[in-house]
Amino acid sequence: MMNQTIEVRREDGGTSQVVIGQVIDRLENYVPNGKKIVVITDTNVYKCYRIMIDRFEKIIIEPGEEHKTLDTMGQIYSQLIALGADRETFLLGFGGGIVTDITGFAASTYMRGVRFGFVATTLLAQVDASVGGKNGVNRDGYKNMVGTFNQPEFVLCDLSVLKTLPEREFRAGLSEIFKAGLIRDAGLFELFEKHTFDDFYQDENLLHQAITRAVKVKKAIVDADEKEHGQRKLLNLGHTMAHAIEKSTRRFEHGEAVAIGLVMIAGLSVKMGLLPAGVRDRIVRVVGNMGLPADSGIPMDPLFEALKSDKKKDADSVSLILLRDVADCEIRKMNFEELKQWLFV
Ligand code: NAD
Ligand code: ZN
Repeated sequence: MMNQTIEVRREDGGTSQVVIGQVIDRLENYVPNGKKIVVITDTNVYKCYRIMIDRFEKIIIEPGEEHKTLDTMGQIYSQLIALGADRETFLLGFGGGIVTDITGFAASTYMRGVRFGFVATTLLAQVDASVGGKNGVNRDGYKNMVGTFNQPEFVLCDLSVLKTLPEREFRAGLSEIFKAGLIRDAGLFELFEKHTFDDFYQDENLLHQAITRAVKVKKAIVDADEKEHGQRKLLNLGHTMAHAIEKSTRRFEHGEAVAIGLVMIAGLSVKMGLLPAGVRDRIVRVVGNMGLPADSGIPMDPLFEALKSDKKKDADSVSLILLRDVADCEIRKMNFEELKQWLFV
């Protein structure tokens, strides 16, 4: 299998390299020579990749969204000081999206900014959290309230590290790849129609192709609109609904909530006369075939209340991404009254 490198533009004129394939053995080629390297990882990932990580200094955090906090950041700053980390130190985030978000934020703020890169170890981190430079931590129950935009020098997406990932995490990551296809890669969407979940889980060539295409979709959108003034909003397809679901219950993984959100948006788009019902049916079929949930089981009333309290809203409206076809979306600002009418018919 060939390694594929995708370059994402950085604001400083440089590029962030996303490398997909078999790269973990060549980690040494990516981190700078002769500098102090500090790995930031979590306890689960450390257990699986201790041999690799122990070659460097390390900071190990607790896993879980509840540890993606300023408290954890404070502990990381203290440990960096204790390790004698200075402006020349390179931070290597080695883990899933929580680790990479935290590492990006730590590297952007410690000593007003140090160099950093990622080894992305979940499918979600490889296709989503790794690209685009958003980082940060949660606060007061709101996700990612504090953070910066800053791209890593590299993101290594090694397929073999996904073997130790729990199957449920893998499946949830597939949902974000499917989302990328729906946004603007019909061929990627069709891969999901042609293959089963087991194909994606077992066939490295297929997975390589799917990851590469999803990263390319995100790259194209982020290149055009790094700070989310316009089309970067497209990446939120299914996410307004997903966030409302995640607010209402802790039953679902993020990617599972996204799958439900995609089905809901497809349904809404059909009701509004934008999307042919046949396309919605194809979406529902893929979600089912991948073993992802298509329905949250949460009644519309509480779900709508949760949706209204989303932080991405303006006072009385929300920007929704609606579907016109596979790989054809539109961003529409809808006021809550209008949305309510469509959702409840
Ligand atoms: P995660 O980092 O919590 O990882 C999921 C679980 O898998 C954790 O328990 C972790 O310890 C474990 N794990 C990770 N890699 C493993 C491996 N190879 N083998 C075995 N276990 C492994 O979750 P995630 O789904 O990767 O990321 C979610 C986070 O990403 C959220 O906080 C979200 O806000 C963030 N995110 C950020 C962006 C962005 O643009 N910055 C985009 C999407 C999501
Ligand atoms: Zn997402």
